[in-house]
Amino acid sequence: MSYVFDAPQQASLAVKGTQDRFPIRRIFCVGRNYEAHAREMGKDPTREAPFFFTKPADAALDTPCTVAYPKLTENLHFEVELVIAIGKGGSEIAEADVMDYIWGASVGLDLTRRDLQQEAKDMGRPWDWGKAFDQSAPIAPIVPIAEVPSVESARIWLAVNGEVKQDADIADLIWSVREHVSILSHSMTLAPGDIVMTGTPAGVGAIVAGDVITGGVDGVGTFEVTIGPRA
Ligand code: MN
Repeated sequence: MSYVFDAPQQASLAVKGTQDRFPIRRIFCVGRNYEAHAREMGKDPTREAPFFFTKPADAALDTPCTVAYPKLTENLHFEVELVIAIGKGGSEIAEADVMDYIWGASVGLDLTRRDLQQEAKDMGRPWDWGKAFDQSAPIAPIVPIAEVPSVESARIWLAVNGEVKQDADIADLIWSVREHVSILSHSMTLAPGDIVMTGTPAGVGAIVAGDVITGGVDGVGTFEVTIGPRA
């Protein structure tokens, strides 16, 4: 058997402290998972069931990096998020067992073409054009879970050109890592290489070419992303 052309390169992310790489299968993202962010998006932050959207695996890229200002938007937004990397497959995972399926954790950016996302919301269309574009998921090197102090409580922050814009604690997640990974696994079978971007706290805003975005989760890592000229 041979492919009719060269198969695409396996999408992957750096692993902190090693030359090994984490192969990515799918990128799941949790929508509106911090109350204050739900409010700033004009939504009632009651504990409605979590919802998910996806990005293509090759939207992920190592940091530090430069991301071209994406096509079609005039309102590119930053969203700093705790990232969970799944290392063992499973379905219908109990909350109590979720940590057994997690290989590592990181922190990254759910870059969002907010104008296209809003248009999709207004017209009842999918979010893909707002969320799932090229280079839309810059992520810091993944840290093995044994080296991560906590995925329950830690400061999460983001700064634009050194000015802090987002500053919260992952303890404020409406749906905790154990809860939302369990819920996700009841919808589809998780596999090694799946990653979850767990949602962003309040303070999101627009960025333009030339901006330098830094962010982190204490005990997990930091990233730096420069916004380049338009793609
Ligand atoms: Mn997000």
